[in-house]
Amino acid sequence: MELTHIEHIGIAVKNLDESIKYYEEVLGLKCYSIEEVADQKVKTAFFKVGQTKLELLESTDPEGPIGKFIEKKGEGIHHLAFHVNDLQNALNDANAKGVRLIDEKPRKGAEGLDIAFLHPKSTNGVLTELCEDKVK
Ligand code: ZN
Repeated sequence: MELTHIEHIGIAVKNLDESIKYYEEVLGLKCYSIEEVADQKVKTAFFKVGQTKLELLESTDPEGPIGKFIEKKGEGIHHLAFHVNDLQNALNDANAKGVRLIDEKPRKGAEGLDIAFLHPKSTNGVLTELCEDKVK
């Protein structure tokens, strides 16, 4: 597979509004989008640093993936997302190399991207998201 850049870094937070303050007031970034992804049971806030985004994730349900993550590990970095030019091909490639896939097919994520996750058991503990921006 061919990665083009780090698309975003996903960060689990308990409270989106409180966390946005830190990124805006201390780091001087600007939140440009807040979006709920019902499918993932999260509310997300986005910032841009160069061509890389930061995606803050607040759980809308304690039983959702972010709710469970925070309960187990607390707030912090949740996943790393790489941009690829051909997501389905990248998934097939990873699968052929024995990587456990969370998503065998691309699905819709925030920001209109097609996304899929690789299982952290196959990636040395880093939950890895691959995404493809079809608009670009
Ligand atoms: Zn993500």
